[in-house]
Amino acid sequence: MTNRNYQICTSCVMDTTDSTIVFDDQGVCDHCNTFKNVTLPSWDTGEAGQAQLDALVTTIKREGQGKDFDCIIGMSGGIDSSYLTYIAKEKMGLRPLVFHVDAGWNSQIAVNNIERLIDGLGLDLFTEVIDWQEMRDLQLAFFKSGVPHIDSPQDHAFFATMYKFATQHNVKYILTGANLSTECIRNPVEWMYYQSDSRQLKDIHRQFGTRPLKTYPVTSILWHKIWLPYFKGINVVRPLNMVPYIKEEAKQLLMDRFGWQPYPQKHFESRFTKFYESYWLPERFGYDVRRVQYSSLIVTGQMTRDEAIELLKKPSYDESTIRQEIEFVANKLGISHDELNGFMALPRRTYKDYKNQRQIYDYGARLMRALGLEIGGKR
Ligand SMILES: [Zn+2]
Repeated sequence: MTNRNYQICTSCVMDTTDSTIVFDDQGVCDHCNTFKNVTLPSWDTGEAGQAQLDALVTTIKREGQGKDFDCIIGMSGGIDSSYLTYIAKEKMGLRPLVFHVDAGWNSQIAVNNIERLIDGLGLDLFTEVIDWQEMRDLQLAFFKSGVPHIDSPQDHAFFATMYKFATQHNVKYILTGANLSTECIRNPVEWMYYQSDSRQLKDIHRQFGTRPLKTYPVTSILWHKIWLPYFKGINVVRPLNMVPYIKEEAKQLLMDRFGWQPYPQKHFESRFTKFYESYWLPERFGYDVRRVQYSSLIVTGQMTRDEAIELLKKPSYDESTIRQEIEFVANKLGISHDELNGFMALPRRTYKDYKNQRQIYDYGARLMRALGLEIGGKR
């Protein structure tokens, strides 16, 4: 923590809780300026985007000829992956293999949403169930390590499974719901370290885990960022950046068409992520991910700054149900309420306190941006 004076961006709602934020002389933050100067000029959801999408569809269909599936989509039940699945099937006319990773924390709404979408679109669902004893051990290890990013075990399993399915089924295209419309401003690395960093995951588990990870899926940046794309020809694409994607309209469409149910906040499809993003991060570290989510909506014209300021006055968790949420997380992990509270009070650590591959991520991100292969990114 620095002793910097508090400041909030005059254009979005990012503030000095992001300790590396930089403001220009108008009080506008670097997230906003990067969006305006870098992201916006290379993002087109009009004619150019449509042409890009059409070309992508042609390539995917050609590559997928004679195969059971032409692409892969990971489905959480949240809005981005749900809308993506709809677009892929209905608008792109693809034959996706849809998979879901069950890490033990699905909310009932998520389960219903996945079922409704899959049935409504006439698709098959592949569910990968993560061994609960290993998952639990890894999650407890992250709690004990003192770092903010305790949702890494879930996210990492998701990424690793995605690549595993792609190689197993020999599918060349992975479609992800990652998008600029609702995520153009990203969680700073300080708040949410790279979940795919297997070196960090293994180091934390080595120090605090109590049983070996025998079946838990592990990926590594060199495998999925170099080996798979450049030697195996497996590509990750983001179709939601090529079509107009307005959150409220997408939500309405999914509700009307499939009986999909909305969540009170992005990522709340997992009960663990809900605890982590609404309680753990803001209460223990002062990181409120709603700032990032709302700021993305503000700069893309989907929310006003005043609306966001108003929403941020309330805590991100529901005060009337948070006790039950904490109870649920403790029970599920098989620890007492006091133990969980004890983790809240541990000395605060960062990713830097453990082995990590930050340098590789930074180098890779700079290279991708220089080659024009990626817009934006974390910082
Ligand atoms: Zn800003």
